[in-house]
Amino acid sequence: MAKVHVFNAGPCLLPQAAIDASIEALKDFKGTGVSLLSISHRTKEWESVMDECRSLWKELLNIPDTHEVVFLGGGASLQFLYVAMNFLEKKAAYLDTGVWAHKALKEAQGIGEAYALACSKDKNYSYIPKDYEIPSDLDYFHITTNNTIYGTEIKEDMACPVPLIADMSSDILSRPVDVSKYTMIYGGAQKNAGPAGVIFAIIRKDALGKVSRYIPTMLDYRTHIDKESMFNTPPVFSIFVMNETLKWVKSMGGVEAVHKLNLKKAETIYNEIDRNSLFVGTAAKEDRSIMNVCFVMAPGHEDLQDEFMAYAKSQGMIGIKGHRSVGGFRASIYNACTQEDVEALVACMQEFEKLHK
Ligand SMILES: *Cc1c(COP(=O)(O)O)cnc(C)c1O
Repeated sequence: MAKVHVFNAGPCLLPQAAIDASIEALKDFKGTGVSLLSISHRTKEWESVMDECRSLWKELLNIPDTHEVVFLGGGASLQFLYVAMNFLEKKAAYLDTGVWAHKALKEAQGIGEAYALACSKDKNYSYIPKDYEIPSDLDYFHITTNNTIYGTEIKEDMACPVPLIADMSSDILSRPVDVSKYTMIYGGAQKNAGPAGVIFAIIRKDALGKVSRYIPTMLDYRTHIDKESMFNTPPVFSIFVMNETLKWVKSMGGVEAVHKLNLKKAETIYNEIDRNSLFVGTAAKEDRSIMNVCFVMAPGHEDLQDEFMAYAKSQGMIGIKGHRSVGGFRASIYNACTQEDVEALVACMQEFEKLHK
């Protein structure tokens, strides 16, 4: 088989080391003679994986003692509901930067008063709104730091006068974050932190217990903090692979080291998009994501779209079709994607341009 380069948006490319360790554990989990799929989660061998995974999150992101990490099923989409159930008492505001942000807001509106403080839908979410002021009477302000579909990103921890809650599904572990600035950070693992089937939530403990509604046991973060994410059967396989993915991030030198590689990859591909006469980027330059790179055929060359897709495919590029709401192309260059993968895509774009000169 020819070399393939995987740019899938999620589930995404994972480090080979994590895949190899998972294959081994599927056959024989930690020398127990039992497959990872058949082990009891109430064993010390399994508890050691949970402990290691939690510690790695804390170490890699410098998570202060004020915060705890939990792992749950249900996807990031179910967290949209959890957030409102656990934190919304009177009023919350959302930064509407795309489909995921909008869905998070809609879920909160089913629970209480929530509104979009600013929105970039006027330009198909191609930029991050900046012209707004955060009122001081909110229970929380919710942001989506990386907009997976549109390739825009809030790349810095913002100052916020009220509790800040962030969906970091697609840029967690891609850059250092100051966790102390957030009341909560959450996301689905499958964009950068592991396989599908598990979410991570990093929660400021003293922010819980402040709402007056009844919270069903399973939807109450306190349940999962108290029981160390083992109130019920955890998604054993997904957590195992996530742990291996975190071990790989650590082996690469941690989040700061990986961030440097990510910046270089992003620069490489954006430079080519800006240089190449056949393509243009869709996201506002200052808001360009270092994880999801969106581009379309340049004006006048729209008819070449299918041909480029076919050409790229013939060269081993996988998963570069843009989301239907943006069109064109999207290269997701998460942590496990290498500089070599990015350069292969760039070579493909250059070759395609030569073919059409
Ligand atoms: C993919 C994604 C989601 C939804 O994740 P699920 O785990 O599929 O529910 C939410 N937010 C962002 C930013 C995403 O990229």
